[in-house]
Amino acid sequence: MKSQEIRSKFLKFFEDKKHTIVPSAPMVLKDDPTLMFVNSGMAPFKEYFLGNATPKSNRIADSQKCLRVSGKHNDLEEVGYDTYHHTLFEMLGNWSFGDYFKKEAIAWAWELLTEVYKIDKDILYVTVFEGDEEDGTPLDTEAYDIWKQYIAEDRILKGNKKDNFWEMGDQGPCGPCSEIHVDIRSAEEKAKVSGKDLVNMDHPQVVEIWNLVFMQYNRKANGSLENLPNKHIDTGMGFERLCMVLQNVQSNYDTDVFTPIIREIETIADKDYGKNDKIDVAIRVISDHVRAVAFSIADGQLPSNTGAGYVIRRILRRAIRYGFTFLEQKEPFIYRLVDVLIKKMGEAFPELKEQRQLIENVIKEEEASFLRTLDQGLLLLDRIITHSNTKEISGNKVFELKDTYGFPEDLTDLILRENGFTYNHEEFDKKLKEQQERGKQASQLKSDDWTIVLEDDEQEFIGYDVTEANVKLTKYRKVTSKKDGEMYQLVFNLTPFYAEGGGQVGDKGYLEDASGDVVYIVDTKKENNVIIHFAKSLPKNVQGTFKATVDAKQRYRTECNHTATHLLHQALREILGTHVEQKGSAVHSKYLRFDFSHFSKLTVDELRDVENFVNARIEGKLPLQEQRNIPMQQAIDEGAMALFGEKYGDTVRTIKFGKSIELCGGTHVKNTADIWHFKIVSEGAVAAGIRRIEAITNDAVKDFYFENNRAYFEMKDLLNNAKEPVKALQNLQEENTNLKKQIEQLLKDKAKNLKGELKNELTEVNGITFLAKQVDLDAAGIKDLCFELGSQYDNLFLLFGAENDGKALLSCYISKELVAEKSLNAGQIVRELGKHIQGGGGGQPFFATAGGKNPSGIKDALEAVKSYIA
Ligand code: ATP
Ligand code: MG
Repeated sequence: MKSQEIRSKFLKFFEDKKHTIVPSAPMVLKDDPTLMFVNSGMAPFKEYFLGNATPKSNRIADSQKCLRVSGKHNDLEEVGYDTYHHTLFEMLGNWSFGDYFKKEAIAWAWELLTEVYKIDKDILYVTVFEGDEEDGTPLDTEAYDIWKQYIAEDRILKGNKKDNFWEMGDQGPCGPCSEIHVDIRSAEEKAKVSGKDLVNMDHPQVVEIWNLVFMQYNRKANGSLENLPNKHIDTGMGFERLCMVLQNVQSNYDTDVFTPIIREIETIADKDYGKNDKIDVAIRVISDHVRAVAFSIADGQLPSNTGAGYVIRRILRRAIRYGFTFLEQKEPFIYRLVDVLIKKMGEAFPELKEQRQLIENVIKEEEASFLRTLDQGLLLLDRIITHSNTKEISGNKVFELKDTYGFPEDLTDLILRENGFTYNHEEFDKKLKEQQERGKQASQLKSDDWTIVLEDDEQEFIGYDVTEANVKLTKYRKVTSKKDGEMYQLVFNLTPFYAEGGGQVGDKGYLEDASGDVVYIVDTKKENNVIIHFAKSLPKNVQGTFKATVDAKQRYRTECNHTATHLLHQALREILGTHVEQKGSAVHSKYLRFDFSHFSKLTVDELRDVENFVNARIEGKLPLQEQRNIPMQQAIDEGAMALFGEKYGDTVRTIKFGKSIELCGGTHVKNTADIWHFKIVSEGAVAAGIRRIEAITNDAVKDFYFENNRAYFEMKDLLNNAKEPVKALQNLQEENTNLKKQIEQLLKDKAKNLKGELKNELTEVNGITFLAKQVDLDAAGIKDLCFELGSQYDNLFLLFGAENDGKALLSCYISKELVAEKSLNAGQIVRELGKHIQGGGGGQPFFATAGGKNPSGIKDALEAVKSYIA
């Protein structure tokens, strides 16, 4: 059975069981501070499990893109070494939100596997939760008794909390689970060891394929469990593992999900898969990672230096490194795999198809830049090896290579070993741990349980219409982090505060109660669909009614920038072409930032056209036309564009100004005339094929012109009020260049004269041509002088002292034959003489310099040097 068919059979099966089929949510999470990426099928549904929102159906099924490369679920280091863990994989899932429970979940799983997919019952094992004393949870007899109806009891195994109790985080909904495992070993192997003994033992052919989670508890901040009011089902089946079973192969990489990519790698690298362990690992790593990176870029997450982007960069670099070391790929090649990947997956995931060019460009550029880093690292490592006195390199050095230059530890290890070297692993590990600890501490967030003040179903956002309202507190909790200290998170029954989202910053403002007690709201954010207001303190009377007031001035400035962002987007598509797509946006009160796909720098004319386009629409006084809660399809038909990586509901909000129409949840000015004026302040590249424009509006433009004007007049003043200041500045620059040239020439002449004089002062001491003298030259001049004299005299020993800008300099030159015959070493000599000038230095045995802060010691150094030739 082909993978495509396997996927659609799953969805069809649950559709027949009255499930609503939904597409995969984007992989990058936006309103969940505890998770960067979707790491299981349930992550996009968290808000339903937490009771913050109501799902459109209480039965849902889907295939969800998951990424397990950071946080609680991190399989990255396994990937490539085993044959059944991936970074990116598809999780097939069926969901019940307060509807059916264990009986149906188990019955349907069994029916699908054994009757639809026709998996032989004799290769299946299931597990149930054995209970946990500490948590006070019992053996899951309910699940056990249901399973008994379908499978022999000796195939039902009891599992511990680690394997059979599923939790989405340290707090929140959780419950026991039943896993389904397959044993796909040969009959001979099965005869030797029973599959029963290999379940959950990391055997590559006895693996878990499906996990049925019975969500029935809530884990509180103090670690205790309480029953959930509604019980839910959350199941997750690894699609690639299922394909392995149904296609009768022994590895996920031998399924049709991976083989086309692997064939392509074999062709490009001219290597065969299945002949050499190291090469096989590399090929698996690359075929896995290219999927993760391509999907991530398609979902709007580009590789970068921070956060989720950094995780993606690390995955790609891991692939590059394996290609570099084991497949000898010294040029970018991973981007060439995108084509087969899209042929294979483009049908099910059209976002890949539509963004092919961007994905290829970004990967290629990243590859090229990391390969340069690797080259540089190799040079550095080479230098370390040649200069080392021992065969063991310090762990700190290896850490520095990794940390500062991005040169991976395992590659360093490999190269060192090839050269007969080792390094101090303990020292390295210690450094790494210290760094990780620092990171952990900085990001650690401790949250208390919510204190419920008022039972309220769903919170209402009224901030599109008003910036002030009377509100009641429904719940609050304290959160503590290293970065912000203690903060309170407040939730109201309704709120005028806009929560950060769609690029727009969260509102600030304050609360005031009848007694005049004021609490400032410093930020507003959304978390799993709840609007959370951040405050430094708690209101004195939490039961009261508060007047909630948004900082209207800041909100207004932000709205100007948000509306301008829409007009800018329209302008770019109109002027540069429809290949322009939004790739990121930040709307602040002071400025806006807009990232978009485009392949070359904007010309001055293009920038001008874009500015004019936007300003024409501001002058056109276009009124805001807002539609709330219209069906998604209607919005698309009206011309709104959905963004990749953005999660939309069935109904959406559209914002229209003239011909600009966007799906948008943000706040906007009532009329474009409010913006007053739009000005681009910068344009540049952020990644391959992605440009960034920063712009300002309204008051910020006034400030901008004022500041520029002031700088202009100050400059003009400095130029003696020249009529044409630009010309005057150019003249000044020209004059400056000429003067510099003249000085250089004068210094050269001076050195030449000096050389003539010095020649007369050379003396012969014990067969050495010697001179020690203070001269009036800079470091470069002295060096030239030394080497010029050196080319004319044999057995030369020179020590020059000089004073420049209050600092002392000693330069020592010794002819190479002297270095060899008399074992004189200029480096060592200046190091020793350095003490006279209160400084230090070093260099080569034939030329070295020392700098110090005591020029009056130069004389002593010039005297002391004589002892070396005596
Ligand atoms: P394992 O013990 O094999 O790592 P898990 O306990 O981490 O699995 P779950 O979190 O229960 O797995 O995820 C549900 C299903 O998703 C698993 O049964 C498996 O089929 C699949 N799965 C989990 N992790 C991966 C991965 N890294 N790559 C591919 N499939 C996976
Ligand atoms: Mg796992």
